[in-house]
Amino acid sequence: MKTIDLRSDTVTQPTPAMRAAMAQAPVGDDVYGEDPSVNRLEALAAEMLGTEAALFTVSGTQSNLLAAITHCERGDEYIAGQEAHCYRFEGGGAAALGGIQPQPLDFVANGTLDLAEVARAIKPDDPHFPRTRLLCLENTQAGKVLPLDYLARAHALCRERGLRLHMDGARLFNAAVKLGVPARTITCGCDSVSICLSKGLGAPVGSLLCGSRDFVVRARRWRKVVGGGMRQAGILAAAGIVALTTHVERLAEDHANARLLAEGLAEIEELGLDPASVQTNMVFLSLEKERASLLAACLREQGILVAGRDALRLVTHRDVAADDIPTVVRACKDFFARASNSEGVG
Ligand SMILES: *Cc1c(COP(=O)(O)O)cnc(C)c1O
Repeated sequence: MKTIDLRSDTVTQPTPAMRAAMAQAPVGDDVYGEDPSVNRLEALAAEMLGTEAALFTVSGTQSNLLAAITHCERGDEYIAGQEAHCYRFEGGGAAALGGIQPQPLDFVANGTLDLAEVARAIKPDDPHFPRTRLLCLENTQAGKVLPLDYLARAHALCRERGLRLHMDGARLFNAAVKLGVPARTITCGCDSVSICLSKGLGAPVGSLLCGSRDFVVRARRWRKVVGGGMRQAGILAAAGIVALTTHVERLAEDHANARLLAEGLAEIEELGLDPASVQTNMVFLSLEKERASLLAACLREQGILVAGRDALRLVTHRDVAADDIPTVVRACKDFFARASNSEGVG
């Protein structure tokens, strides 16, 4: 039985081209700055994001942590979404390791943070309060693309109030492909950006933290402190170069497959799914908890893996083919048909 793994776009296998590039990569000791493949990857990422420099990191979690501890000092505060990865899903790293307090705010339905609320959350300069230093936005946020005019307003607010702006762009290229603009158009107002190579871009490992030369020098020091200084890391960077040079445009295929999936699932009345709500590579099914876990278990028996506790999440990526979509839709339809039949009997 073929497995269709829709849990996350992190599950992609490295392609033969990636494995070949990894095998042949020229390498050196990156802690000495001597790994040509890492240096090439960092230069490439900086170029694509329009920043002076970039830093290859182990993970997006590490990139976000380095951004927080480089922008902020102990006793400072960052503002982030209640459901933001950097606040909720990274073990509280900025607080645990940096003494940096989060100020979470609810996301608006479109994945943004309300800027009036952000402005209200910025603390006055008074010893009672932490110093609010940093605003973290996530793009895409649960598959949603932040509007460019919103980003311009967020940037203006940060400049006016003396905040730094960090973008957790784990899936930034999904946003860029969706908007049809270069990634640098999205990130031009940011002081730092983290991108993941290991999500839809399909590399086995790695993220990049991008920003000014001075920022990256300081972040590089913190990367060493947290044990993220790698040696012949060019083996990994080589896969990242393949990802950035050949896997960006094809994200459109993942978006098309997610849309196809949503259109099929929209025929299931109980799901109340609007296919137009699917902007990139994620489809969410809001179901009551017990029903969600029954559906997930039923799909698992058929080799279809989905993620989630409350809302189920189905993510398309390069190891999910267009051909797989009807299989998934059919399995979901069968589940709901059976469920409504048995309700009729019961
Ligand atoms: C995946 C992800 C990260 C980083 O995750 P790692 O697994 O540490 O690479 C950060 N932010 C968002 C929004 C993510 O989806």
